[in-house]
Amino acid sequence: MRKPFIAGNWKMNKTVAEGVALAAGLRETLTGVVDIELAVCPTATVLSAVRDVLDGSNIGVGAQNMHWKASGAFTGEISPPMVKELAQYVIIGHSERRQFFGETDETVNCKLEAALTYGITPIVCIGESLEQNKAGETVAFVGRQIRGAFAGVSAADAVKVVLAYEPIWAIGSGLTATPEDADRIIRVAIRDVLVELYDVAVAEAIRVQYGGSVNAENMATFIVMPNIDGALVGGASLKVDSFTAIVKNALAALRV
Ligand code: PEP
Repeated sequence: MRKPFIAGNWKMNKTVAEGVALAAGLRETLTGVVDIELAVCPTATVLSAVRDVLDGSNIGVGAQNMHWKASGAFTGEISPPMVKELAQYVIIGHSERRQFFGETDETVNCKLEAALTYGITPIVCIGESLEQNKAGETVAFVGRQIRGAFAGVSAADAVKVVLAYEPIWAIGSGLTATPEDADRIIRVAIRDVLVELYDVAVAEAIRVQYGGSVNAENMATFIVMPNIDGALVGGASLKVDSFTAIVKNALAALRV
């Protein structure tokens, strides 16, 4: 049984003071939520303060990126041991990092392996562009991303990975995949490929979030789909009210 997981990706938003206020608000409104795993992913400069606010709560903390090397001459980067001090999760291969910062399936694979080595849960993002979607290339492209991300990863490690299927055209656009389409892509482009790489048990154990303009209104329609195990939320994770409503609506939908 896969435990649903909803994470907020704050992206390049929130100063320390703003992040602390948001985290403190969420700690209050989301107290007692146990049926859904929860996390927020602040920017690196805010991780430490948010970690302190959420210490001992039911809300985990994730970084938005990290290098795969433990240390070295990589100006501006943060390393796995640095993340490990402050966070339990790390987002890897977000489409914005692939698009603007040159991330490739190879760097995603290096980061995924590094996260697992250091006991950090990776949230690995995959998803197709609008052009690929229109050209009918989604299944092949996302399948390639999965094969690249998991290259050389053992089955025992693979089950620790969280995936986020995020069609790029749905991120921050107000557009979403239909729940049925997202569920089908996760089935055929992700779980079926994981069956090929590993086996059915591994494919069924790995949690896959949906991401792309998730909000309080549409969350329930995604969380009830058989292959969708929660959400990676961008814009709607930046306010206490909207992130809380997403979590509460997901809980209500799961209880029906
Ligand atoms: C994201 O950045 O991962 C994301 C899904 O953003 P939004 O919810 O704003 O579309």
